[in-house]
Amino acid sequence: MYAEIIVDISHEKLDRPFTYRVPERLEGVIEEGSKVDIPFGAGNKLITGYVIKLKETCDYDLSKIKDISDISKGSVKADENLIKLATFIRKTYGSTQINALKTVMPVKKSVKQEVNRRVIAKLDPDKLRFVADEAERKHKNAQARLLNELIKYNDMSYSFITGKMNVSAQAINSLVKNDVVRIETETVYRNPIKIDRPEDSKIELSDEQQKIVDDVNNDIKDGKRNTYLIHGITGSGKTEVYMHLIEDRIKEGKQAIMLIPEIALTYQNLMRFYARFGDMVSVIHSKMTAGERYDQYLRVKEGKVKIMIGPRSALFTPFDNLGIVVIDEEHESSYKADNMPKYHAREVAKKLCELTDSVLILGSATPSLESYYLAKQGVYKLYKLNSRLTGNTLPSIYVEDMREELKAGNKSVFSRKLHELMKDRLEKHEQIILFLNRRGISGFVSCRECGEVIKCPHCDVSLSHHRDGMLKCHYCGYEEPFNKICPKCHSDKVRGFKAGTQMIEDFVKKEFPYALTLRMDADSTKKQEDYESILSRFSNREADILIGTQMIVKGHDFKGVTLVGIVAADMALNCEDYRAGERAFQQFVQASGRAGRGDNPGEVVIQTYQPDHYAVNFAKMQDYEAFYEDEIKYREMLMYPPVGNLLCVQITGEEERRVVKLSSVLSDMIDKMPIREDIGKIGPANATLTKKCDIYRRVIYIKSNDYDKLIMVKDKIETETEKWNLTKETVMFDFNPMNGF
Ligand code: ADP
Ligand code: ZN
Ligand code: ZN
Repeated sequence: MYAEIIVDISHEKLDRPFTYRVPERLEGVIEEGSKVDIPFGAGNKLITGYVIKLKETCDYDLSKIKDISDISKGSVKADENLIKLATFIRKTYGSTQINALKTVMPVKKSVKQEVNRRVIAKLDPDKLRFVADEAERKHKNAQARLLNELIKYNDMSYSFITGKMNVSAQAINSLVKNDVVRIETETVYRNPIKIDRPEDSKIELSDEQQKIVDDVNNDIKDGKRNTYLIHGITGSGKTEVYMHLIEDRIKEGKQAIMLIPEIALTYQNLMRFYARFGDMVSVIHSKMTAGERYDQYLRVKEGKVKIMIGPRSALFTPFDNLGIVVIDEEHESSYKADNMPKYHAREVAKKLCELTDSVLILGSATPSLESYYLAKQGVYKLYKLNSRLTGNTLPSIYVEDMREELKAGNKSVFSRKLHELMKDRLEKHEQIILFLNRRGISGFVSCRECGEVIKCPHCDVSLSHHRDGMLKCHYCGYEEPFNKICPKCHSDKVRGFKAGTQMIEDFVKKEFPYALTLRMDADSTKKQEDYESILSRFSNREADILIGTQMIVKGHDFKGVTLVGIVAADMALNCEDYRAGERAFQQFVQASGRAGRGDNPGEVVIQTYQPDHYAVNFAKMQDYEAFYEDEIKYREMLMYPPVGNLLCVQITGEEERRVVKLSSVLSDMIDKMPIREDIGKIGPANATLTKKCDIYRRVIYIKSNDYDKLIMVKDKIETETEKWNLTKETVMFDFNPMNGF
């Protein structure tokens, strides 16, 4: 028996399977997916690798084939489907095989389990008394102390005895040996859900909801496995539909994966699933410890977990009988991995569903152009949920032209309309959310004389001005004191064009001194607890106004909020990539969805210098369909995804000269490819962010109708650069990118 093995060394030269012999003693033990120790290289140093294939024959010189040494200690096997997914990811997005394998491995190694140990008396109290006296006579004080307690309690926790009672393990062991006590061990799983199971409210589905559930179930009965897109405004009952479909799969003995964006992975959201399904629900997220992850993996393997909730990595849960994958907020850009391999969870989920004969459910209030496009073409089945179930209407939306505000002499960040509505809500004790597109680019500082923007010397992004008087870089953390003198023209007219969350808070304090505010941005939410605590404080009405970045627009149900202000819509509109319009529209609609979830109707104010922008207009009308029609025309015209396909080749390195050179060499190489006529090429050029943390960045964009042609370009670049043995530069691939580079 022979095994093809991918070695665990990230080096392009070694990025191919190596063949090893499976020694007889390991036959039947080693399987595809096993992690093994193998002698490697001239020195036969032991390294690890993954078996991706077992075979009976071998085409190489048998005398040169080495034996696998052993299964790696404490290793975790990759399931067959996960290996297939790794292959798909490697082919579709590019990367080394080992990186693709590591991407799909839920846990890399076993972690020692936590155990609860108890010391239990084996003798009755009278006999214990006798042994205790004996111990005391022999001055075995620790034993005597323990025995005297056991007379009273019979059964005590081991850690209490060795801790608080200061009895040594030796002392306990000698009692075990003499048959006086025994030790009982129970394994405890580190359960990431640390809440009591709340009461579930059984809900009768509406006709609209029931139709979706019936349709999917009928398809499954008929042996059809489709992808379904549920387009439903926030609060229209999508989650309820997911839960019904999941419940039906569980009844069939199957398992479910539910993806939600990491940022929406909150207590509120988990609680609904936990209330309905109890302990069979588990969760995985990036802030869990290795131990917690491993325990979830074991619980999955033991069949105790049937529903895994988490961000994109939850896809790689090794279920043995998966039946359904749900992707909520499917338009979210966090479903795209930002490291190589840059896979999209939606596409990988589709593949996983094919491999496992499962159905895929996508849901969103503002579907991605990708999904809606496929739904329109009948590739996905499309369903709409049009009304809010909690009985209230959609908010009224006002667009305020900030140019007019300036003309009218209003220098506040708040338009007169927004100011008036804020005042009204504060008087009525209703809550307000002020939403700002993002941190970082906001709050930049520039010279009013010459226009010079003060930038980070390492990252080529504008520094933002913080209240502590420092200018800070949000990429690398660089900071310098704010100095009003312009480095270019030496005028003293350097001022902030601020629109950061802090600045908005300052304006609120100035204009509404009695209002209580909470601020939520990457600074104030370093930890998940911070995030949860801000949300729950706001939910408990401990503040009137919540000010925050896109973090706050995700699925939270604040019943007290009746006003949402989108303070600087332009920051979303003016991004430099083809998805800017889509992202802006999504954000406006999602933010509006936060208003009026309770009994009182909501209002939304969008402030912008471009009131005629189509994303603003259609957001105002809450008309996804009309937005889609306009946006897809633009994509069609320029052959951007989802109509065409786009590959961004990202070239980075420390030395500018070498990075420029490499990008032009790659570009020439692409020009000489036989398929050159079938693809479009833009660049090479500097990336939007030309330098980040002292690394220079260049891009080449390739367009084609045919994704496979892009893969050919990627393959060509991969094989060539492998030969060149690049050590200083990195080439990465981003297919149909979600964000600029
Ligand atoms: P979405 O996921 O689309 O935002 P949810 O499933 O969270 O919508 O539903 C929004 C609210 O409406 C929730 O409070 C939910 O309990 C309630 N709800 C959902 N379906 C129904 C129904 N059929 N009848 C009554 N209330 C419902
Ligand atoms: Zn920087
Ligand atoms: Zn200047």
